[in-house]
Parts: sequence; C-alpha cells; structure tokens
Amino acid sequence: MTNLRIGHGYDVHRLTEGRKLVLGGVEIPWEKGLLGHSDADVLLHAVMDALAGAVRLGDIGKLFPDTDPAYKGISSLKLLEEVGRLLREKGFVVVNIDAALLAQAPKVAPYKGRMVENIAAALGIEAEQVNVKATTEEGLGFTGDGSGMAAHAVVLVEKMENIL
Ligand code: MG
Repeated sequence: MTNLRIGHGYDVHRLTEGRKLVLGGVEIPWEKGLLGHSDADVLLHAVMDALAGAVRLGDIGKLFPDTDPAYKGISSLKLLEEVGRLLREKGFVVVNIDAALLAQAPKVAPYKGRMVENIAAALGIEAEQVNVKATTEEGLGFTGDGSGMAAHAVVLVEKMENIL
C-alpha cells in the first residue's frame, strides 16, 4: 500500500462590517471582515480541513470546537501549527498544498506571497511546497455578490516509516 494520502478541505465564512479581514494569516485592509469564532481565516480553515482529512483526524470543527472559549478570536495560524504537530505525531509529512480562495474583492494578489510563507512557516515546510491562488466568481452567487468568501484546498501527505 502506498504511503501517500490526499485530503480535501472546503470552508465558507460570511463577510460583515466591524471585523478584520484575515486571509492566509495576512491582515488585509478592507471594508469588511469574515465572521467567525476564531479570526475566521477561511483559507487556512480549508487547508486545515484538507490536512485533517488526509490523515483521518476528522475536521477542524472536531479538533477546535467553536463552543470552546479557548479558540475565541484565535489566530488560525496557531491552529494550523497545532494541526501540523498532530500530523507529525501520526508520522506524516506534507508533500504539497494547493489552496484556492473564492472572493469577488479585494484583490489578494499582492498578499499571496506572504500567505504562502505563513502557511509554510506554521507547518515547518518550504514555501515551494505551498501554492495559493484566488479567483473571483464573476459576480455570481454568495462569493460573487460579496456576502461571503469560500476556499478550497487539496493536500498530499506521506507517511514516513520509522519516524523518530
Ligand atoms: Mg471556518
């Protein structure tokens, strides 16, 4: 049996006034932010769900319940670090991550490099193993009309034999 596993993650958060917009661990100046118990970083949530799925850790709702006050307002980068730790504990290493943000606005291209660096640093991997992309949805649906943002992520991980 191969030691390779894939995982897929998907997440959605509503956009609202009076919240900071944090995507990929980068605070982006914008008129609205994402609503959620943590910092509502939809991109990192999709990445974490993909990683959790690949190694059968369930999902982030199970790992970090939104009823737990410990996670209120927490940076999702901290949660990603914890997922990375759990992954290593199970003997897995990340091969690569590909994440896609679905958002009509703002333009996130100037921030993508920092998002990649943040994800790589939180997981202790190289930036070359991480890809972040973004698309608008041509004005269609809840992402297109600006009422929310969504993100997808796929990951490949490998179980290392005889890991110490
Ligand atoms: Mg979420």
